[in-house]
Amino acid sequence: MAGAMVRRQCANRPGTHSPSAAPHATLGTAMNVLVLNAGSSSLKFQVIATDPDRIAAGRDDRLCRGLVDRIGGEAVITLQHRDRPRQILTAPIRDISAALDYVLRWLASDHSGIDEINSLGDIHAVGHRVVHGGERFTESAIVDDAVLKGIEDCIDLAPLHNPNNIKGILAAREIFGAAVPQVAVFDTAFHASIPEFAYLYAVPYHLYRRHRIRRYGFHGTSHRYVTYRYRTLHNLTREQTHVVTLHLGNGCSAAAIRAGHPVDTSMGMTPLEGLVMGTRSGDLDPAIVGVIAAKEGLSTHDAETLLNTQSGLLGISGLTNDMRTLEQELREHDDRRVRLAIEVFCHRARKYIGAFLASMGGADAVVFTGGIGENSPDIRARICQGLEWAGLEVDDARNRQAEPRERQISKDGCRLAAWAIPTDEELLIARDTVRCVLGVPHPS
Ligand code: ADP
Repeated sequence: MAGAMVRRQCANRPGTHSPSAAPHATLGTAMNVLVLNAGSSSLKFQVIATDPDRIAAGRDDRLCRGLVDRIGGEAVITLQHRDRPRQILTAPIRDISAALDYVLRWLASDHSGIDEINSLGDIHAVGHRVVHGGERFTESAIVDDAVLKGIEDCIDLAPLHNPNNIKGILAAREIFGAAVPQVAVFDTAFHASIPEFAYLYAVPYHLYRRHRIRRYGFHGTSHRYVTYRYRTLHNLTREQTHVVTLHLGNGCSAAAIRAGHPVDTSMGMTPLEGLVMGTRSGDLDPAIVGVIAAKEGLSTHDAETLLNTQSGLLGISGLTNDMRTLEQELREHDDRRVRLAIEVFCHRARKYIGAFLASMGGADAVVFTGGIGENSPDIRARICQGLEWAGLEVDDARNRQAEPRERQISKDGCRLAAWAIPTDEELLIARDTVRCVLGVPHPS
């Protein structure tokens, strides 16, 4: 039983943490941070060994990564030690707790091949992705009872996500006990700098006061990571960093980053607003919700579910939410609805770039990330088409080459550059976890 493994005694307990209580002896010694992203039927994990020195030197060590998918039935489990070949297994896994137990047994076993982890005691902290932090959490936080209550209070704002994140936290608490600190890293936190005039919706103000109805934005850890990489690659200070970031994955969002901080973002009170996504509609006339409900005989809740799960690329193409498959279909069959889905997707993204350039007073670069943004030269080129007026010209050869992964894809000397930068949310979660646990102020 993983729960029966040796428990590590840690001086830094959740709830009693303060910078003065930081275990300085740990500075310079890598902490093995378990990073968890608990979804409705999946648990993604990584273990990253890092500490302030490694963070400063960019020498964090990713020991392993994996995914337990289809939790609740016969789960499909993917495990990978460093860059070794992935193992794919199946096992009956009933819930998040059982998934975590499975992962921890693997980590500590000889099968994993991870020399750094021989028992539960070799995991020094746990970092959790938490989707919604509301107005309360503007940075990452050590999870104590008050923080957990704060995350629960945000369930109303993210009923599809926060309950799963809480399950991940509770499962880790149960297995590790209070001795291993846990840190919550919020998807919304990076967007806390967005000014009132950009986060308020034009609805009666009392709705904001009573129910906190406003734009929060999501994918913050991803936007923050690629902004940080962009400025590191260019040797810029935070104040000198002006970019539009596009996270294009299954979920898609754009952020306008002025002086290193978001001043606007496309996702709203929930992740439904903004860009066209795999299965989400993004922006639409709000009156449409009532029309769909009335005409299709649905409740407003069901109409909203339709906008979340049956719309976007899937809804328009009628085929799939997977961009790679759509691109292949377009190449091979030139299917009209597939073409339309791609055109609507790219048009919306281009429109947001233009809007954000206007609202932030111009930028130096557009940064593409996420599964589509990192890997699809065609989609990047289509989105950038027609942005020459803004000074952006894609360099076809650079855009199509696969390496280096972090690279400029625009021609030299453009007024507005374009970059592809792979995201790494887990790395930031591990780094924030270490900083929170050690009481080291984090730089962004
Ligand atoms: P998530 O948002 O779930 O983390 P990802 O960031 O992995 O998802 O993005 C998934 C999307 O990226 C899918 O639509 C997938 O088809 C697309 N994608 C991945 N690789 C490529 C590729 N080489 N070309 C086009 N699209 C790709």
